[in-house]
Amino acid sequence: MKKTMLTGVRPSGNLTLGNYLGAIKNFVDRQEIYDSYIFIADLHAITSYIEPTKLKSAVYNCVAMYLACGVDPAKTVIFKQSDVLEHGTLGFIMTFQTKMGELSRMTQFKYKSQLAGKEGVDTGLFVYPTLMVADILLYNTAIVPVGKDQQQHVELTRDLAERFNKRYGEVFEMPDVYVAPVGNKICNLQNPAEKMNKSDNSDNKGTIFLMDDLAVARKKIMSAKTDDLAYVHFDEENQPGISNLMSILSKITGEDFESIEKRYAGKGYGEFKREVADVVCNLLAEIQAKYAHFNDQKVLDEILAVGAKSAKIVAKETLARTTKALGLN
Ligand code: AMP
Repeated sequence: MKKTMLTGVRPSGNLTLGNYLGAIKNFVDRQEIYDSYIFIADLHAITSYIEPTKLKSAVYNCVAMYLACGVDPAKTVIFKQSDVLEHGTLGFIMTFQTKMGELSRMTQFKYKSQLAGKEGVDTGLFVYPTLMVADILLYNTAIVPVGKDQQQHVELTRDLAERFNKRYGEVFEMPDVYVAPVGNKICNLQNPAEKMNKSDNSDNKGTIFLMDDLAVARKKIMSAKTDDLAYVHFDEENQPGISNLMSILSKITGEDFESIEKRYAGKGYGEFKREVADVVCNLLAEIQAKYAHFNDQKVLDEILAVGAKSAKIVAKETLARTTKALGLN
């Protein structure tokens, strides 16, 4: 029997090169080896206010993007989180297995509550990790390919699954995180100390969106912040900008850092950036052509309906096991 792989992305804006290289690509490369599930995390999108019409179109955008990035509905169950109500119920149950301290230590919460102050931060930003725990546990997931920023959530999932299993008997499968060695944290091109995010303080100059106009994407790469050491070398501490571009190149082409360094020995950053821009633009062109092909609401609705049906079968079974163990039925 195949093991299960699951990952998801919040439909809260256009997907970025970080989403693709950190999570989606790793998923696509493995979708045949596993029983694969990929979901659109629309319940996570409402942890902060998002205009309903924007959310709706972002969901379609996200499914079409998954398909354009190579997720194959014949090999993978593609579904919308809110179509499977068991996510909410198990999330609620898992909240009760969690300590306030565990949620307070979550990096995202710490970061956001620093910005807004603990009193002002949305409760959703505090408790959403327990929903993520439910997302993973519902499908008896063995492997979760995510970017480095999500590692902590899978660790919380393991802790809570273990706690639950000890208290109530073996109900949950223990998931492993898969954080790829290269490309697990694609950084902002203007501020390489920060992760590349869907929202970007630098007028989006530091973020490559998968739907970016190719000339715009090229310009973003050509004007990426580097350093004045002027040699192509992987050193995240002293050359974070160049190291980020090397990660992007290496993750897309498969070429290792040593070989890139050798090819660029004695050459300037301009030539290197041009190659990165070419490779990224080729990737975007391919994704965008496929996106246009798949962006048909009727087809997407059908895919989501089929996906929800398959996902529900497994989710229902896990929730029934859970409620039985708890003495709720
Ligand atoms: P999000 O956009 O926060 O819903 O993230 C969806 C997936 O993309 C998660 O697995 C993240 O870890 C991954 N991800 C998001 N941004 C990046 C990034 N800059 N580098 C690598 N992975 C990322």
